[in-house]
Amino acid sequence: MEGMLGHEGARRQLRQLYRAGGPHTLLLAGPDGVGRRPLARWLGALLNCRADDPAARPCGRCESCRAVADGSHPDVREVGPSETTRAGRQRRRLEITIDRLVRREGGDPDPLGPWLELRPRYARRLAVLDHAESLNPNAANAFLKMLEEPPAWAVIVLIATGPDALLPTVASRCTTLRLGAVEVDGFDDLRAHPGHRLGLPGPLLRARSDEEGYRTAAGAVEALVAALDGDLRDALSAAKALAQALEADAPVAPLTLLREALRGLPSGRYAAALDALERCEQALAAYVSPPLALTALTLDLRALSR
Ligand SMILES: [Zn+2]
Repeated sequence: MEGMLGHEGARRQLRQLYRAGGPHTLLLAGPDGVGRRPLARWLGALLNCRADDPAARPCGRCESCRAVADGSHPDVREVGPSETTRAGRQRRRLEITIDRLVRREGGDPDPLGPWLELRPRYARRLAVLDHAESLNPNAANAFLKMLEEPPAWAVIVLIATGPDALLPTVASRCTTLRLGAVEVDGFDDLRAHPGHRLGLPGPLLRARSDEEGYRTAAGAVEALVAALDGDLRDALSAAKALAQALEADAPVAPLTLLREALRGLPSGRYAAALDALERCEQALAAYVSPPLALTALTLDLRALSR
């Protein structure tokens, strides 16, 4: 299926699990970019495929499989944290709120819980809960009953780095399938990209879809690291370029590239650099402007190298 790379073992396991009905609540655990969402969609296609031969599912050609591929399937749905509040303001942190899951006045007109209660048009209703670690406690509590006793046709797939990232009440109700690094073949042109070493097809695919954005971000990272022990003005102009890449929403998180580039530092300095990077990410999450956050990071990193 399109966009699905690797994870043959996981797909085999899912086939086996769901031949017998499968768990209603499944946690796909693994790092960002490893392919958890594509695998969840693949499961949605598997469970609803119209091909006669079960071994040929998902066929990728029937009406159901095509609808999963283009995101229009009536029984497959993805919910993630909202980026704005009900008043339309930007949220400071990612959060899946109660409105998205249960019906409330003034909330989401089509929340997930009632949607899961409806009979499927095909075979199974599959809901993907992206960034499941951002379920806030109220939302999780309101949704526990659904996680515990979902309708026979419902499958809820949670996406997170691991069970320990979830609220314990949620984690204890999930069957966990862990996804490890993938063999990334056919990305030789992106060998310098951290996704290559880490076996993460997601960022490689994004870099490929916007090579110019990737090159710009990678160039800014390279210039910044090269200028750490050099001229202050060079370092600051590299920080500015990196801030622009961040603001342009480059196809690969520029800070991931920077983290990778810092691996070349001696180990003591590297650990301190990672701390500085984490402070920068926290500042950005708190809506400090990228130029300011990146300038502070650059000064921190230079202080380490003295
Ligand atoms: Zn099919």
